[in-house]
Amino acid sequence: MSENLDDDALFIEEDIDSLALAHISQRTWKIAIVDDDEDVHRATEFSLLDVKILNRRLEFIHTYSKAETHQRFAVESDVAVVLLDVVMETEHAGLDLVKFIRDDLRWRETRIILRTGQPGYAPEEEAIRDYDINDYKTKSELTRKKLLTALTAAIRSYDQLRTIEASRRGLHQIIASSAEFSMQDGIEGFASGVITQIAALCGVPSEGLLCAQSDESLDGEQQFRYHVIASAGHYRSLINRPVEEIDNPIIRDAFRRALSERTSLFEEENMTLFFAGRGRRAIAAFIDLPYALSEIDQQLLQVFCANLGVCLDNVGLVNQLKNYAFRDQLLMLPNRLKFIEEIDSKINSNAVQQMVVLIDIDDFAEINDVLGHRYGDHILRAVASRLQQALGEEVILSRIAGDIFGLLGASTTLLPEDLQRLFVDPFIIDDTSHAVSVSMGLVALDFPPQSGMDVLKDASIALKRTKSLQHGSHTLFTREMGVEIRERAQLMQHLHKAFDAERLYLMYQPQIDLKTRRVIGFEALLRWRTDDGKMISPTEFIPLAEHSGLIVGMGAWVLRTACFAMVHLLERNQHVERMAVNVSGIQFREAGFVQMVESALRDSGLVAGFLELEITESVTMSGVHNFEETLAQLKTLGVQIAIDDFGTGYSSLSYLEKLPVDRLKIDRAFVTQIDTLGGPRIAELITQLGSKLGLKVIAEGIENQHHLDVLKSMGCDEGQGFFIAYPMLENMMDGWIKDWK
Ligand code: C2E
Ligand code: MG
Ligand code: MG
Repeated sequence: MSENLDDDALFIEEDIDSLALAHISQRTWKIAIVDDDEDVHRATEFSLLDVKILNRRLEFIHTYSKAETHQRFAVESDVAVVLLDVVMETEHAGLDLVKFIRDDLRWRETRIILRTGQPGYAPEEEAIRDYDINDYKTKSELTRKKLLTALTAAIRSYDQLRTIEASRRGLHQIIASSAEFSMQDGIEGFASGVITQIAALCGVPSEGLLCAQSDESLDGEQQFRYHVIASAGHYRSLINRPVEEIDNPIIRDAFRRALSERTSLFEEENMTLFFAGRGRRAIAAFIDLPYALSEIDQQLLQVFCANLGVCLDNVGLVNQLKNYAFRDQLLMLPNRLKFIEEIDSKINSNAVQQMVVLIDIDDFAEINDVLGHRYGDHILRAVASRLQQALGEEVILSRIAGDIFGLLGASTTLLPEDLQRLFVDPFIIDDTSHAVSVSMGLVALDFPPQSGMDVLKDASIALKRTKSLQHGSHTLFTREMGVEIRERAQLMQHLHKAFDAERLYLMYQPQIDLKTRRVIGFEALLRWRTDDGKMISPTEFIPLAEHSGLIVGMGAWVLRTACFAMVHLLERNQHVERMAVNVSGIQFREAGFVQMVESALRDSGLVAGFLELEITESVTMSGVHNFEETLAQLKTLGVQIAIDDFGTGYSSLSYLEKLPVDRLKIDRAFVTQIDTLGGPRIAELITQLGSKLGLKVIAEGIENQHHLDVLKSMGCDEGQGFFIAYPMLENMMDGWIKDWK
């Protein structure tokens, strides 16, 4: 080792020179001097006076015996180098300490330089190897230059080891913390968790703010309606304040820039991290930094941001964000979170015979649309005040969401019939009378005791039931209702995992020209096999994925995979014309949908004309915002569009005529109908409609020769179905095409 010393010395001069110019960090390297000889301490410190290595000053820790070192090190961390005397109170004190540092303290990165006063005494080779001792010097070698050389080399390698370890730990932490976030209950917990995690990730103190878009700004055009939803350290007092009101222009500007440019910003003294959620939803965190972050920390944080963006999309969280941002300034009532707390405290105090009621104003969205928001607000106020007056102090009234009120009180005072009676008299709004009807969901707070959150969930299930069965009435929650819904929730969790674990895959079903029998293309169909081998139908899991927003990522994956499969098929010279991919309405609604399609095409190299997107008829009619514009953009790309499950929706002909689509897909139900008394009537109608509009028509669900013959004879162009082929794995496509010929 000592041979290298002088080589290293060359680098040191350079380090020291450049340091004189460079900005000196506030951070230090901790150097522990462990020696029973006071002179050695003084000589060492003196010869390293004012030295800076790799941009930092040195900070010394002095100990004089093995015992003292034990105590001191137990409360230390981040010691870069230990200059360790071999012989102190015993012959082995130094080597014992090495063992202690490595095995007990587990300081793996700390560099150890052994020093001895007795030339000729050297530790055994094994000790050097096993305990990762980095250098060995006699005390007479302690000239300033040699010491500097050894220290610089040691600090450099400590720094590198730390970087590697930090990135390993950082990745681990990202994974662990992402998992934690999805399970967090409250938004406060989530938000302050974000600040803590970020601070921990970069090893900086927890000083920062987190802001989220407030709910109103998601619907309206207003920009930057952001509130501080978590704060730590000296920013604590800013909690709940709108971002515009923060009187620090640096923070205000940082938030504004990060959110408008949708990017994270790294500055010397602070950073602003941007987390993109679905659509326009986003949060941003502003964190103080004691020093600029290293490249690797910045990269880690980007990973973290991306990960957290995914968590944000988790429906639960989005709802929580919504709820949080909704300070109910309009009615000055407790909001949802508060209501949950109230239920919790009722449960904890073992109150008996308690009831939670959710009251939803029927057709409130229409009232708002037709009569305006101001009018809607009046109604909400009137309803709230009537409830308050009738029910008194004993009942807790809260606003759970836009037009949903929550009541918590004794079962005897919250009888549904009595509550309905409160809405018999119309409300007087702007001097005119307005009749209001409400739907209710009720749940009794009986045992087994659950959490406030669960109770509210149960009440919403009951409310949903009312709304789907009969508006203006009520439903009492029963256990059976819960079981069904919880099973769905469980399935959803599994689906998330399945997607992550790549348990989802595609099958491809051929589509042929009915007249010539030529293979025209394939439809990609998604499959999910659970860990225990059970197949779950897409008709069951797609709605779940839509509900949770997972469909967006999943759909993008499907599209990409199908495009690649098509490119591979074409590369093998197969004469097929298209790959049909199902697209959910939720995906269509996503702002970046067209770009997503574009990038799938670009990345796979598939020519747009080979791709067909199937959208269901219900989507075309569901009033998706910008629907026609999105379709037009897709057509400009050159992608083909088919309307799936045609005949099951209610498209008006005039509307259909306007839409730039290529193909109608007769729903399987009408093909099945061919075998019944009704016969092929509807299928025929659709075929004729298609030819009138100049659209191709394809039938799905062809299960026998008869179906095929009938469809062909009525002029239906194309078809797919089990009679032709079952959906197959990608590696079966070639073989099938050959056999079919
Ligand atoms: P779809 O797009 O109408 O797909 C046709 C369905 O009919 C497929 O069911 C297919 O396997 C089935 N099928 C085909 N030929 C026959 C037949 O001769 N007889 C019978 N009984 N069935 C036949 P699958 O794969 O279960 O998909 C069901 C639905 O799930 C699809 O209906 C589609 O709406 C949705 N889906 C499937 N994959 C995706 C996807 O990747 N994304 C989206 N958004 N939806 C998908
Ligand atoms: Mg389809
Ligand atoms: Mg279909």
